[in-house]
Amino acid sequence: MCDHIKLVLRVQFTRAERSSSLCYIQRLATQAYQFVRRDGLEWLECTALSRLPWLIHGFSTRTDHKAGSRPRGFSLGHGASTNSRRIDRNRHRFYRALGAQAFLPASLRQIHSATVWHVVRNPKVSGLAYTPCGSALADTFLEIEPQGDAVITDEPGILLVVRVADCMPILLVDTRRRAAAAVHAGWRGALARIIEKSVGEMERTFGSKPADLTAAIGPSIRSCCYEVGPEVADAFSGAFRNAHKFFQRDAPDETDGNSSMSASLLWLSKSPPGHSPEPKTYLDLAAVAFDQLNRAGVKGSRIHLADFCTASRTDHFFSYRKEGDRAGRMMAVIGIRA
Ligand SMILES: [Zn+2]
Repeated sequence: MCDHIKLVLRVQFTRAERSSSLCYIQRLATQAYQFVRRDGLEWLECTALSRLPWLIHGFSTRTDHKAGSRPRGFSLGHGASTNSRRIDRNRHRFYRALGAQAFLPASLRQIHSATVWHVVRNPKVSGLAYTPCGSALADTFLEIEPQGDAVITDEPGILLVVRVADCMPILLVDTRRRAAAAVHAGWRGALARIIEKSVGEMERTFGSKPADLTAAIGPSIRSCCYEVGPEVADAFSGAFRNAHKFFQRDAPDETDGNSSMSASLLWLSKSPPGHSPEPKTYLDLAAVAFDQLNRAGVKGSRIHLADFCTASRTDHFFSYRKEGDRAGRMMAVIGIRA
């Protein structure tokens, strides 16, 4: 680990110790997630969801013992040569390993939006029907992959799928009414409140009560590695009153023992021109997710965060930040058994 990352981590944990608003970091130490291996593949399961016998779920990793040294994941970035048949095979292997081979996969063309789709089986075409949530259009759309970033269902046999390689995958489960959601949230989607909106659409569509929801936040890029430009901080400040809780700042040249304290104060006071360089700004997407889930009424004790930064742990995960366009994509999936 480079010194820079060590420094930022130290800032993060020092701040966490001081601030109860970041208490989720303390939960990282608990065994909320476990790695599962089958058929040469390895994925993460959230222990709270694994306990539900009527549910299938998983967060894939890059570990693929049958792919040799260069696993390609479940889809590729635009800069890589796409071998769609191989990708398709990989996806079906993952579904099979999970025991979801008979499920109909429901995925989206992800566009970093706040668009949520309700998915049901469509017996007319032996496939799926997608309906846009919160839309005046009551029409049912039969597209295979409409544009959007969250899918919800309460029908058994449908596997909700989102693809990620640094962005945050979030799985939501209504344990009382047996409904589920899969959400893809990068900074743009989080800024557009996709997480809060997904909870709201489960309430409207299935009558879910937020207090009955369990949320599993999968591996994503974390604040140790997620440097963002000032426009991102400005955008969040414009949209959230407590936006300062989502960011950490790090002065590049400070390596002494007092740097963590001064880093936390840098949010409030920018260096005047001609003085020391501007501190770097890091976005804590998990803090944004916690905030939106809490705001929507999900209990803190039912929010489970996977203790992994994709950019720090490219031994386990793909990272767009670290590997660029050639990074494979991982999947987060969830479905209700028949
Ligand atoms: Zn990291």
